[in-house]
Amino acid sequence: MKIAIVPGDGIGREVMPAALAVLDAFGLDIEKIPLEIGYGKWKRTGSAITDEDMSIIKECDCVLFGAITTPPDPNYKSVLMRLRKELDLYANIRPFVPLANVKLPCNKKVFDFVIVRENTEGMYSGIEELHEDVAYTTRVITRKGSQRIAERACILAKGGKKHITIVHKANVLKSDSFFRDVCTGVAKRNGISFNEMLVDAMAYDLILRPEKYDVIVTTNLFGDILSDVAAALAGGLGLCPSANVGDRHALFEPIHGSAPDIAGKGIANPIASILSVRMMLQWMGREKDAQVLGRAVDSVIAKGIVTPDLGGSYSTMDVSEALSKIMSEYLDQVH
Ligand code: ATP
Repeated sequence: MKIAIVPGDGIGREVMPAALAVLDAFGLDIEKIPLEIGYGKWKRTGSAITDEDMSIIKECDCVLFGAITTPPDPNYKSVLMRLRKELDLYANIRPFVPLANVKLPCNKKVFDFVIVRENTEGMYSGIEELHEDVAYTTRVITRKGSQRIAERACILAKGGKKHITIVHKANVLKSDSFFRDVCTGVAKRNGISFNEMLVDAMAYDLILRPEKYDVIVTTNLFGDILSDVAAALAGGLGLCPSANVGDRHALFEPIHGSAPDIAGKGIANPIASILSVRMMLQWMGREKDAQVLGRAVDSVIAKGIVTPDLGGSYSTMDVSEALSKIMSEYLDQVH
């Protein structure tokens, strides 16, 4: 198995070593291909990602990704958008389940839902025009894009409550009534029950009644925003992983960004990255290893070995080292 390792910028460079130390504890036969990609590289070389980087990534089985800074510079093109498009990683899968022993901001403690975000089109189509007095971004919703993301949502729902919630703004946007109609057709064909929610009502209800939801399927920008709402519910951005998957490639990354406000301090919470490794293990079919990793995460949190975002005083690498140690003990018991 060949994995491209992209730490990226900011805290991406701090959480990646923490995640790799945990991956190494499994002793798997993995070839790691480190790649420098991101804003730092752009500042140094004028290019954030080269065609050669893309070819190397395409030869790998998957990518483990830290985080990349996207500056508000019209000359800078988003690296993640390029990766998602060129690798055709059309489904961004973001599970939200409260971790044991994490203090949550709301009194809602029991929920287990997944946001399935379309990842290659919508508001992130890349079709934009910037003029002196006006700017345009074209929102693209295709039948193919909507069908395949709805199919993904149905596959996930089949393993759970067999229900999907289709989130849109179809009362205002024609592109969203199209998205809604395609998704409902796919749900009916798959025998999956569904309901629809307007995105604004969804943001509100997610905070009040998160336990109601199972699989939420939505377009690119809405999925991006709702994920941050969900991350707050689940205890913070430092805890939430994601998988970007297509039919041939996959990329695993925390849902947080490069967090310039805390970068360089060694205090970033590595758990989102470590749980992204867990999603990668599941994608590889290593369910038992994924379970061991999940138990180890619960155990370090229970012991209070946590970073400042969770009220602790431990560093990124303290958490990773404690976790690797616990995991090695579990693995010794398993083998
Ligand atoms: P970017 O521009 O790269 O998206 P950002 O700061 O706008 O960065 P995030 O990186 O997602 O967006 O960070 C949002 C907030 O959450 C910041 O205050 C950040 O410090 C905090 N945060 C994000 N990830 C973590 C983490 N792993 N550990 C602790 N705090 C985090």
